[in-house]
Amino acid sequence: MLSPYVLHSKISIPYYWQAGNFLGRFFAGLSKGILLASICPKCQLKSLPPRQICIHCSLESDALIEVQNAGRLRTFTHLNLDSAQKYRCKDECTFYSNLSSPVWGIVQFDTCDTGLVHFINPGAIKKLSVGTRMKAVFKPVSERVGTILDIHYFDLDP
Ligand SMILES: [Zn+2]
Repeated sequence: MLSPYVLHSKISIPYYWQAGNFLGRFFAGLSKGILLASICPKCQLKSLPPRQICIHCSLESDALIEVQNAGRLRTFTHLNLDSAQKYRCKDECTFYSNLSSPVWGIVQFDTCDTGLVHFINPGAIKKLSVGTRMKAVFKPVSERVGTILDIHYFDLDP
């Protein structure tokens, strides 16, 4: 019996993702350098990234409030890209190639109850610890497109 011939290739499927009114407002805020958090009408939980449904009460919120750009690092990790590239495909690593050694962390803004996962300035890694003061560094206005990546990364907040 003959083995079936298998052709290995990749296909590209362009698509659009509808962010919706709630997250759409959040992303529009980021494009202006504004951080918006949701606030639960019952328990007052403030979430950033915003959540339309409260994780405690399951109540729906339509309220977004502006948050000051100041918070604390809750946790972080670091990727040695040289070793990772041996095991990952080039397409996946292309995104990270702008950062020589990517660092990710969770930053909780001062007035919020939840944290945001994002890149951390890799140049700051030796000064990072849980609780380090952090601030979002936005891309230049001309490069913002209304996504979470309008925040270039988080950096030390002196
Ligand atoms: Zn709630």
